[in-house]
Amino acid sequence: MTVAPSLRSMAETVLLPVAIPPVRPTTLITAYDVAPVADEEKLDAIVVGAGPAGTAAAFTMAKAGLQVALVEKGVKPGSKNVMGGIFYNHYLEQLVGEDWKQAPLERPIIDEQRWLMTDEAAIALGYKNIRNREHPHSFSVLRARFDPWFAGKAEEAGAFLIPETVVEELLIKDGKVVGVRTGREGDLYANVVVVCEGIGLGSQLLVRAGLKKPLKANQAAMAAKEIIALDPAVIESRFNCEPGEGASVECYGAATQGLSGFMFIYTNRDTLSVGGGVLLSEMSDTRLSREELARRTPNELMNHFKRHPAIKPLLQGGETVEYLAKMIPEGGYKDIPKLYGNGYLVCGDAAMLSNPVHREGSNLAMESGRLAGETVIRAHERGDFSGTALGEYKLRLDRSWIMADMRKYDAAVPLLEHNPQMLGKYPQVLDQAMDEFFRVDGVSKWDKQSRILRTFRKAGLFRMGWDTLKAGWTLTRPIHR
Ligand code: FAD
Repeated sequence: MTVAPSLRSMAETVLLPVAIPPVRPTTLITAYDVAPVADEEKLDAIVVGAGPAGTAAAFTMAKAGLQVALVEKGVKPGSKNVMGGIFYNHYLEQLVGEDWKQAPLERPIIDEQRWLMTDEAAIALGYKNIRNREHPHSFSVLRARFDPWFAGKAEEAGAFLIPETVVEELLIKDGKVVGVRTGREGDLYANVVVVCEGIGLGSQLLVRAGLKKPLKANQAAMAAKEIIALDPAVIESRFNCEPGEGASVECYGAATQGLSGFMFIYTNRDTLSVGGGVLLSEMSDTRLSREELARRTPNELMNHFKRHPAIKPLLQGGETVEYLAKMIPEGGYKDIPKLYGNGYLVCGDAAMLSNPVHREGSNLAMESGRLAGETVIRAHERGDFSGTALGEYKLRLDRSWIMADMRKYDAAVPLLEHNPQMLGKYPQVLDQAMDEFFRVDGVSKWDKQSRILRTFRKAGLFRMGWDTLKAGWTLTRPIHR
């Protein structure tokens, strides 16, 4: 394989401790009549999608003085967006500085709860960090409020926001992406198109241009979410929070009927975000009976969760004001598509950058958007928008925490997919053991210990130990960074 000399020298200049990706000629599906465009009619960059990735990219480029169009299909940014969600302010601060404090975020997360559930119990791990009052790092967020504010920051920096406009396809000429075809604004041209279309099941810009393979069912989770209105004081007393502070509760095991995924409750100012997601392949497994599949629809999973005796009292009296559904990319490192080529870059969910183990996605989106923006600024300075020049984006990603995390957790989702006992049978065994341990019922502690040991033996002590080691290795194995 050959390495383009310019990339090699670039890597040497910035001393990147990473392998230099080979630059392959991109095979683009070219099918459109593209008129020649005078330079003065061309923008510096077009960004598709005003989610966290697209807005971060547009903000970065506009702030450096580039002419950027941010094209969004929603009536306004955020109107089509769904997220749990917990938002990480560090990445916003990196972009907009102290202005992040004005962002319409909901509550700083002080209390983190993880519950392993069976149908009749919840084994809880809780972490209340009072330091988060002074130095919050995460907030609950409603994207319908946050996205317009963030896109407004990109506009203030000089980006042109074009809402209510669907990008229908990428315009490709002589193997180079040269612009986009839109429903409302006609064809728009630019030196670079930054594709931030999210998981992209609508227009499927990348798939249709032959730049990404269609998504497989085990590469994404199907997620649903309800926004439930509740009095702020009730939220605070139920979730043990001080006024204005928030909690996150994430539930595994019976919460998803043992399927690979989790359910959540996040406290907003005057609502709760309640939802969750599981691997699409487990929702649509054709080997299952029709009845079994009916129990696995997003709606049924949600109702099952809301009915759980440990969850129901937390939601009591709340009124559902919104219901949303969306997919989350979960393919991991191995399923990341090609991230750059002649005249284009791909960021955020469109690039399959997400970390479901740590419920992170918005931060990978914002960081990749920022790195893409910086790459375009450099390309603009050099007047070179070829795949080789834009390959710098991949180098930047490779030396960032994003790719380190993507590599680290690459095997986490398949581990759950191929070991259903981990979220199915094992929580039940633990529940039985905990019941025995806590129950005061005239049985001596010696007898209780041997009963607990018998419970584990009956469940397959060796297999459980082996699976625990496997899970530990998957989550902590050293990787080449
Ligand atoms: P998106 O946010 O999907 O934005 C894409 C944008 O592009 C949208 O505005 C869309 O309208 C627009 N668009 C798409 N196609 C076109 C087109 N053809 N033309 C014009 N515009 C277009 N992440 C976290 O960090 N924390 C969480 O707690 C969390 N919880 C989640 C819970 C759920 C239920 C879901 C579904 C996701 C969650 N995520 C969470 C993941 C997070 O939402 C995503 O990783 C993040 O939104 C990705 O940002 P993005 O900009 O790449 O894509």
